[in-house]
Amino acid sequence: MAHKVTFIPGDGTGPEIMDTVKRVVNATGVEIDWETVEAGIDVMNKYGTPLPANVLESIRKNKVAIKGPITTPIGTGFRSVNVAIRKELDLYACLRPCKSYPGVRSKYENIDLVIVRENTEDLYAGVEWPMGAFESKEIIKLSKNRIREDSAISIKPISRTGSERIVRFAFEYAVEHNRKKVTAVTKANIMKFSDGLFFEVAREVAKEYEPRVEYEERLIDNMCMQLVQKPELYDVIVLPNLYGDILSDLCAGLVGGLGVAPGANFGEDIAVFEAIHGSAPKYTGQNKVNPSACILSAKLMLDHLGEIEAAQKMERAMIEIFSAGQNVTYDMKADRDDPTAVGTKEMGTAIIAKMNSLEPSKI
Ligand code: NAD
Repeated sequence: MAHKVTFIPGDGTGPEIMDTVKRVVNATGVEIDWETVEAGIDVMNKYGTPLPANVLESIRKNKVAIKGPITTPIGTGFRSVNVAIRKELDLYACLRPCKSYPGVRSKYENIDLVIVRENTEDLYAGVEWPMGAFESKEIIKLSKNRIREDSAISIKPISRTGSERIVRFAFEYAVEHNRKKVTAVTKANIMKFSDGLFFEVAREVAKEYEPRVEYEERLIDNMCMQLVQKPELYDVIVLPNLYGDILSDLCAGLVGGLGVAPGANFGEDIAVFEAIHGSAPKYTGQNKVNPSACILSAKLMLDHLGEIEAAQKMERAMIEIFSAGQNVTYDMKADRDDPTAVGTKEMGTAIIAKMNSLEPSKI
C-alpha cells in the first residue's frame, strides 16, 4: 500500500527544490501518495495566513510530512511558520545528522555526528515582553535591581518533562542506530536552575542505558571549541533548544555547509522532515540552489517509513554524484562561478539516472 505523506513545497526556492525531491523519491520505486498543501508568504493573500488550518490537519492525519523551507520576515510580520508547525504538533525532537560525504568540500573528514535538539522550550517558548511593558516592569521589580529598568525580557523555561523526553529520545536513537555515546550540552555553570535541571534529568535517564550507551556532559562554549578541534570524539549530542539551533549550524559547517544538511522533527507519533537551510529567497525561480539537503531529509523520511533499501539506494547515488563532482550545483564547486555547475532540476535528474544504474553490490 502507498505511504500517505503530506507535501509542503514552502516558498522562496522551496517549490523548485521540493519538486526535485519528489521526482527523486518517486524514482526509488517506493509508492507514495503525496498530499500537497500550501504554506508560507506566497499564500498569505490567498488564505490570510501563512499557515492555513488544512496544513496542520493534513499532517495530523498522515503522521508524516516533508516540507520545503519557509521565509520568516525579520522584525515584522508573522512569527515563523516553521516554529509554529513544530509547536502546534508538539514536535519536540529535532534530529540533525551531520555526516561527511566524499566529494563534499570540507575542512574535516569522517564526521558522523547526530544533533538532537529540544524543540519546544527554552528561549523559543515565545514568552517575552518589550521594554516598558507591565510584565517587564514586574519582573524587573522581582529581580531586585539585577535587571536594568530599560530592559526587554525573554523567559527561558526548561522543564523536567521536556528535558526527560528529549534526553530519552537521544538515548533511544543511540540504541536503535548502534551509537556508543550521548553527550548532553548546556551552560549549567551559569544557569544553575534551568540548564542545571536539564543535566540533572539527563544523568537520571542515562543511568537506565548504562553500560550500553556512554554518557558525558559538556558546557556549550567548550563544546564549540571541541567540535572545531576534534569532532571525531562525538557521537550523539543532546541539547536544549537555543544551543541546539546554534550547534546544528556549526556541525553543518563541519561537513560542508547548509546545502547538504538534512533534518527531521519528531513528536510522539508525527514526523516532519525538512532541511536545515532556509528559503534562500535571492535565488527564487533561478533553478540554482542545491536540492541535496532536502533529498537527504527525504532519505531520513524513507528510513522512518521503513523503506530502508530505497533510502540506501538514494544515499548511495548521491554519494556517487558528489564524488564525481560533475552534476552538482554551484555551491559544491571549488569556484562558485564555475560555469559547469548544473541547476537544481538537473542535479535531481543526475541522481535519478545514477540510482537507476547502480549495481546491486553498490547499494
Ligand atoms: P538561508 O539558509 O536561506 O540562506 C543562507 C545562505 O545559504 C545563503 O547564502 C543562501 O544562498 C545559501 N543557501 C541556503 N540554502 C541553499 C541551498 N539549498 N543551496 C545552496 N545555497 C544555499 O538562510 P537565511 O538567508 O538566513 O534565511 C532566508 C529565509 O529562510 C528567512 O526568512 C529565514 O527565516 C528562513 N528560514 C527558514 C527555515 C525553514 O524553513 N526551516 C530555516 C532557516 C531559515
